[in-house]
Amino acid sequence: MDHFLYKNGVLYAEDVSLNDIAAQVGTPFYCYSTATLTRHYQVFHDALASMNPLICYAVKANDTLAILKTLALAGSGADVVSGGEIRKALAAGIAPQKIVFSGVGKTRDEMALALTQNIFQFNVESEPELYALSEVATRLNKTAGIVFRVNPDVISDTHAKISTGHKESKFGVPIADAMRLYALAATLPGISVQGVSVHIGSQLANLAPFAGAFKRVAELVRELRAAGHDIRVLDLGGGLGIPYEGSQNPPPLPSAYAEIVKEATKGLNCQLVFEPGRLLVGNAGILVTRVTYVKRSEGRIFVIVDAGMNDLIRPTLYNAYHDIVPVVVDEATETELVDVVGPVCETGDIFTAQRLLKVPKPEDLLAFRSAGAYGASMASTYNARPLLAEVMVNGSAFSVVRKRQSYEDLFARDQLPGWL
Ligand SMILES: *Cc1c(COP(=O)(O)O)cnc(C)c1O
Repeated sequence: MDHFLYKNGVLYAEDVSLNDIAAQVGTPFYCYSTATLTRHYQVFHDALASMNPLICYAVKANDTLAILKTLALAGSGADVVSGGEIRKALAAGIAPQKIVFSGVGKTRDEMALALTQNIFQFNVESEPELYALSEVATRLNKTAGIVFRVNPDVISDTHAKISTGHKESKFGVPIADAMRLYALAATLPGISVQGVSVHIGSQLANLAPFAGAFKRVAELVRELRAAGHDIRVLDLGGGLGIPYEGSQNPPPLPSAYAEIVKEATKGLNCQLVFEPGRLLVGNAGILVTRVTYVKRSEGRIFVIVDAGMNDLIRPTLYNAYHDIVPVVVDEATETELVDVVGPVCETGDIFTAQRLLKVPKPEDLLAFRSAGAYGASMASTYNARPLLAEVMVNGSAFSVVRKRQSYEDLFARDQLPGWL
């Protein structure tokens, strides 16, 4: 459920008309709904409440400070994957003791930052990373609380670019190596083993892969304890999918997911950690764009909009589906098969091909639904297109939470060498 609804034929974000926002802010822009965001956090939290979860929002899904702060105020921690994300999480007021640090390529500088801030946990993804972390922690006279991200070798039926739990994946350590790696970690200075983590992929549409993975890591927890390791934390990652196509193919509800978790972790008595990203922000954001031209060519209808793949790369990167709806409904318009495309000079700059939509007119506003996750955070300036504006609505109030990049900003990092 979200708070992007029509009132008298006009699409609103909570109590604010998207027409009004477009008039003030220009297009394209992302628009986030506070009520939707906090509701999603609450539903997920409440489903797991009896297990006293630590929920660490996966910052990479959307790192806009206003999103982070809204979630922080709701009680969320952060799952970060870079020094930049650590800084953003801290700037949003997230306590270091609620921050977990994931990623296969943590640099020594990033480790030092995380150690100095006394974050809760490092999710270690390889043996060389373990050695590096031990070295940095020892140098700083700190102790790094670690879990290994284990790879349970499950196949998750999601898009190949967001599946991470199969054994050829670059992520995590093979579960078959776990006993040896935990034994090694126990001998290294500056390292304190505290648990196990797993994250098998994103936009998972059913529960079976989770159930398989969680059962396998629960077994590992028991094996590690039997071998004398003090396993107190079980981090079950993120990955729960969201509905992208209206009410079609609904993914599992958080309550059903919680049942799987409860079943798999019964009697383990671990601090459970979760790293939801998309689930919290995906449907809390939309992208609003204006139609520039409608081009009819060789029997096809191209709706050319002012947002491009640089603003929302999911359709071309993941073959992702976004509902595309008019901001102002015009009952009179015909429904036809159209391609909605951006202005970027790439064949891949297509949001949808041959979809049945009401054919808009130039200057009409369209909204891409479910664009809150992996939208703005993946935006680029490709084709020298300034980064778009981001707006947050809260009831009848709205505010620009990330300014549209100015052309001055766009040029700011360029410098000409002395010989030009
Ligand atoms: C990306 C990622 C997440 C979040 O995934 P979602 O599908 O957005 O929930 C969580 N944990 C790790 C380690 C990730 O890389």
